[in-house]
Amino acid sequence: MTRLKLATVWLGGCSGCHMSFLDLDEWLIDLAAQVDLVYSPFADIKEYPQGVDVVLVEGAVANEDHLQMIHQVRERSRILVSFGDCAVTGNVTALRNPLGSAEPVLQRCYIETADIHGKIPHEPGIVPTLLDRVVPVHRIVPVDIYMPGCPPSATRIKATLEPLLRGEKPQLEGRDMIKFG
Ligand code: SF4
Repeated sequence: MTRLKLATVWLGGCSGCHMSFLDLDEWLIDLAAQVDLVYSPFADIKEYPQGVDVVLVEGAVANEDHLQMIHQVRERSRILVSFGDCAVTGNVTALRNPLGSAEPVLQRCYIETADIHGKIPHEPGIVPTLLDRVVPVHRIVPVDIYMPGCPPSATRIKATLEPLLRGEKPQLEGRDMIKFG
């Protein structure tokens, strides 16, 4: 049997969706028997590889690094799953959008609330520049499957991955599977 190449990506999110992935508990052992985890915050792999079968993308697109990453992820992945409410709608990550741009957020965080020597970080190539608007993943690249939830429960993650392992498209229906929050 060909092993599925699975990746998980962490963009602008709190990592709660990845924590929920770990809640799969003992099913992770079954999963590990069927997939190769080729890229993930759980694994120390620097370069997103070619030929990924399924990728779970946590978080919204909030900075220049995310923007570059999501294009690369889309180019190199067959099935892209928007993983959690931040990826699907922007959710918590997009709460800053009504402020109009990144500048008020940076001012508040690094200048107004600084105890001493407030300074907005500016290190090109090290600190990615914030986008003025946070956007959900599908606003940048096509998404194949939406998995809402903040975070999606382990049950929902399993209900998404199990059909994909069989080569089928998951049918996420009903309150237990598609409720936001
Ligand atoms: Fe965190 Fe919720 Fe966003 Fe997932 S959807 S990254 S748990 S805030």
